[in-house]
Amino acid sequence: MAGSRMKLELCRVAQGRSRLGVLTGLGRTSQQSLDVPGCLLYTHFGTVPHLTQDTLHTVSNLPAVTQVTLSHIAEHQEVLEEFKDGFRKFAGLHDTVLYCSLHDPAVLCPTGYTTNKTVSVWGSGGRMELTVAKFMALQKTVQPDWYQSMADGETWQSNTSRKRVRKSVDRTLTHLDECLLVHQNSQELEGVEVFGVVEGGDILEERVRSARETAKRPVAGFCLDGFQSGSMDQALKTQLISAVIKELPEDKPRLLQGVGRPDEVLACVEAGVDLFEGFFPFQVTERGCALCFDFDVSLDPERAGRAPHAVLKLNDDQKDTVGETQQNGDPCLDQTQMTSFEINLNDKRYHDDFRPLVEGCGCYCCKNHQRAYLHHLLVTNELLAGVLLMIHNTAHYHGFFGALREALASEKLDVLKRQEAGESASLSP
Ligand SMILES: [Zn+2]
Repeated sequence: MAGSRMKLELCRVAQGRSRLGVLTGLGRTSQQSLDVPGCLLYTHFGTVPHLTQDTLHTVSNLPAVTQVTLSHIAEHQEVLEEFKDGFRKFAGLHDTVLYCSLHDPAVLCPTGYTTNKTVSVWGSGGRMELTVAKFMALQKTVQPDWYQSMADGETWQSNTSRKRVRKSVDRTLTHLDECLLVHQNSQELEGVEVFGVVEGGDILEERVRSARETAKRPVAGFCLDGFQSGSMDQALKTQLISAVIKELPEDKPRLLQGVGRPDEVLACVEAGVDLFEGFFPFQVTERGCALCFDFDVSLDPERAGRAPHAVLKLNDDQKDTVGETQQNGDPCLDQTQMTSFEINLNDKRYHDDFRPLVEGCGCYCCKNHQRAYLHHLLVTNELLAGVLLMIHNTAHYHGFFGALREALASEKLDVLKRQEAGESASLSP
């Protein structure tokens, strides 16, 4: 957009793809920034699930950008309009940078509900149809710092026809042009950035066309949609993302939607992705699990040779609890299914396990409680279980992104990837 202040400053591009840098010029004052590769703060209506603001801020290294979704906000439009001062103030978010996306990344949307003129979002009260006019009225009410343009994202399933995929790319470009037209004539949205959405399902030519056409529009960055876990295998995903990224300008950020598993994050960073949605810790918490993988990238020369090896090393406890489907790289359609990066605290084996969730973790939960206590809270349905797990999972996940950037800075991502692949192959079932 004219007057755009968001700026991507890259300090290293490894192997011509993985990018390390800082997204600057964010927020109302343009003073805030976000490290890339990075992750946004996942919320439900502006709140990290289970946590109050006070509790949340016991977690260090939180990202400066909070993500809200229209699926949570759309049904409250009238109240927000009456309130007048925007969503940030309404939700008590103070000076956080606000990014508004269309769908909740933690939930797979049903397909079959888009038309040429509308997309649907699902709130607590059911389905709501959004036209471009309604979508843009919502953005004016929310007053985010940046938002995802309206898109037809119903083509993530691998059996989607070529014709349907082509239609989705066409519609998404039309929606973008219509959104930009309203945006450019709107005083309320002055200084707000728009991210164009790249669609194209699993069809290479459509992915390239979508990326190329979106890049011609005055957008501040790009959302890569339709790559969510379960949509396709990682090899195809990497191939398509690489092809898309070749069409995108170097100086604008690329946000990958719906991907949160640490192994997928690593593969996609290698393909050139900058930003991710931070919903994964929430999904892990909801199934009573705790993230428990080692990402210690030690710069100690004695450990340097094996440090990257440790980044995605599984905890011993996990090896006999994780289904084989996660280990052979097959896409898992069920996002509620446990992954190899977590331990299930519901399991009886933890009833007398007096260790913290993760040895050496500095979060409030690990400093004050043991696995046995978490197990007790879960089996007795205490609300505190979700609170403590969410504190740990949030801290652990954002810590992983910090380690990822450290690995990139010390040129270890490549080694890390190779060794991680070796590690997975040698896992016992
Ligand atoms: Zn912890």
